[in-house]
Amino acid sequence: MATSISTRCSSARVCPESSMPDRRQARIALIATGGTIAGAQTGELSGGYRAGALSVDTLLEAVPSLAGLARVEPEQLVNVGSQNMSYAVWHALARRVDELMRADDITGIVITHGTDTLEETAYFLSLVLPHTKPVVLVGAMRPATAMSADGPRNIHSAVAVAVSPQSANRGPLVVMNDEVHYARHVQKMACGGVDAFDSPNAGRAGVVRGSRVSFYGRADIASAAADNVFPLSQLPATVWPRVEIAYACADMDGLLIDFMATHAQGIVLAGVGDGNATDAAVDAMMNASRSGVAVVRSTRTGSGSVGRNIEVDDDHGGFIAAYELNPQKARVLLTLALMAKRDRAEIQALFERY
Ligand code: GLU
Repeated sequence: MATSISTRCSSARVCPESSMPDRRQARIALIATGGTIAGAQTGELSGGYRAGALSVDTLLEAVPSLAGLARVEPEQLVNVGSQNMSYAVWHALARRVDELMRADDITGIVITHGTDTLEETAYFLSLVLPHTKPVVLVGAMRPATAMSADGPRNIHSAVAVAVSPQSANRGPLVVMNDEVHYARHVQKMACGGVDAFDSPNAGRAGVVRGSRVSFYGRADIASAAADNVFPLSQLPATVWPRVEIAYACADMDGLLIDFMATHAQGIVLAGVGDGNATDAAVDAMMNASRSGVAVVRSTRTGSGSVGRNIEVDDDHGGFIAAYELNPQKARVLLTLALMAKRDRAEIQALFERY
């Protein structure tokens, strides 16, 4: 597993010099981080493959159509399966994207990423980066060497979205399977199939047809960076507050939550239904909350909005309701909120706004 982080740009260009478009054309920085999109099968039709096996230059060779869209400048940050995505990589990625966003000659940024934690990275970036230039995350459900690999088409679509002026001011976008999704709403809904991504509460943001991009609504996304909530300069390189996720189920006792409370600064409940859990688990959450651990209630159901004080008394317990954020995204927001030393009322307000 390659985990070293490189900010060195590849010298390769998608467009060979002979067919280089004129300078009026868009310039897209493409940051590769690995995933199935860069995966190589271990047998032609076998299910087995290794994520993050191919370099960014190899990926782009499979998308010659990019020459008609933009000048694409690739760089390889890491090459990992996104199950191994880490805060260290997020830190390096956010700083690099921020740098590219400030570069006058860069139109937009595309990030290739494994699909497993793609929504977490997209949401994290949406909290720490300005929502100005397009930032587009893209993955694939089939390895690059598979029959009908979806990666090349998804990369073409992602670059088309990144060059579209309509994509600005919407925060990071996720492009998969001809669809565009907002970072806050997108979710990996299935562990297989090219249509694995959806935005179950809000619906997709737009669609891509060939190189044409259409959005369904105007950009109206609250930006934490514009409000200076989580300044990138204050993001530590590696050690972030520990926030654990407790997964609720029938007959759950409080043992695991008790244990989490001794190590973590925050706990997110992936609750049943409307962020519920057994009385024993809620008692354990209450003890954790009283001992200073921030407790967020979210739902394991995959969609819906967990509101305050429905069946659980959040006011009494000192709990925070996650609203539409799924457990893994609630964990991202809670981690950043704890880093920024926000109190519970402030954290609740962050969940309502971002
Ligand atoms: N586990 C791999 C990853 O997240 C494969 C999933 C994918 O990219 O589709 O990178």
